[in-house]
Amino acid sequence: MIIAMSIDATEEEIQHVIERVEECGFRAHVSRGAERVVIGAVGNNQRRHELEALRAAPGVEDVVPLAHPFKLVSLQFKRERTVVDVAGVRVGGSEAVVIAGPCSVESREQILQTAHAVRHAGAHMLRGGAYKPRTSPYDFQGLGIEALRLLAEARAQTGLPVVTEVMSTEDIDTVAEHADVLQVGARNMQNFPLLRRLAKTPRPVLLKRGPSATVKEWLLAAEYLLAGGNEHVILCERGIKTFETELRNTLDLAAVALAKELSHLPVIVDPSHGTGRRSLIAAASRAALAIGSDGLIVEVHPCPERALSDGQQSLDLAEFERMMRELTAPLPKLAPSFALAC
Ligand code: PEP
Ligand code: MN
Repeated sequence: MIIAMSIDATEEEIQHVIERVEECGFRAHVSRGAERVVIGAVGNNQRRHELEALRAAPGVEDVVPLAHPFKLVSLQFKRERTVVDVAGVRVGGSEAVVIAGPCSVESREQILQTAHAVRHAGAHMLRGGAYKPRTSPYDFQGLGIEALRLLAEARAQTGLPVVTEVMSTEDIDTVAEHADVLQVGARNMQNFPLLRRLAKTPRPVLLKRGPSATVKEWLLAAEYLLAGGNEHVILCERGIKTFETELRNTLDLAAVALAKELSHLPVIVDPSHGTGRRSLIAAASRAALAIGSDGLIVEVHPCPERALSDGQQSLDLAEFERMMRELTAPLPKLAPSFALAC
C-alpha cells in the first residue's frame, strides 16, 4: 500500500501517518521527494482496510493499494495453474471440458435421454438443476431430492460426473452425496455463509460470476472457498447485466481472459445464460474457447420448446451434437493475402 502525502503536509502529519502504519503492523518506508513525501506500507496482515482509512487522515492525498485484495486465488501467489480433477475429468488441463444437460431435471426420461445423447456427442460431464433459483416464486422450482436421485442414476448409466446447483447451506450434504461438483449460482455468488460452508466440503465448487459482480468481487468470492480450505474451485462466466436489452445477459469474454491473467483457477463459460439465445450458443462457445476458456457449460434439452426452464437458451440434442463436431474441427486459417499483410 502506498500513502501519498499532499504537497503541503506538515512534518507532524507525516509522522502521524508513519506511526499509524506501524501501529497496524506494517513497516513504513518513507520516500522524501522534491515535492512530496510518499510512505510505503510493507507487510501482509488483515489490517489493510485500516491503512485505506488513512485517506481520512490530515495531510494524506491518496492511499493506493499495490497488491490485489485476493491472495490465495491469485497467480502471483501460486504460479502453477490449478487443475480441478472431477472423477477423472481434468478441468483446467490441456483440453477444454464440456458440461452439458438441461437447465432443470424434469423427469427420468428427460435426464436419461439427455445424458446418453450428450455423452455420445462428446460431453465430459452432465449438468441438471435440482434446486432452481427462479426469479418468480410461481415458476418451476426444481424436483429437489428426486432430481438428485435421477442425476445419480444418469451418472451410473453414462459414467458422466454430475454438476448441480446448491442454493442453501442446509442442502449441501444431500447435494454432495449425489453430485460430483456443487454449483454456486450467479445470484448466490456473494452468499457468504454458503461459501464458508462449501469451503468445508470435499467436493469441487463451480462458482458462477454474479450478474453485477466485478471480476475483483468474483475472485474475492472464490477467495472465501480457498481461505476456508477448498482449493477445488472452477470459475464460470455466465454473462452480466448491461444496458443491452436484446440479450438476457452480456457475455463478458474479456473477463475470462482477465480472470485467467489474475488467477490460477480454471475458468469456464456458460454461453446459454451468457446470451439467453440458442441461436448464439455455438458462436459464443467458439469465441469462449478462442479467448482461453477451460471449458463450457451448455444447456441441452430433448425438446427445448417444452422445457420447464430456460428452453429459449437450450440446444436440442442434434444441435448439441453438431456444435460439438464444429468445436473439434480445426479453426479456419487466415486467407494467405491477409496473413501476409499482417
Ligand atoms: C443455471 O445454471 O441454470 C442457472 C440458474 O445459472 P445462473 O446462476 O448463472 O443464472
Ligand atoms: Mn438455466
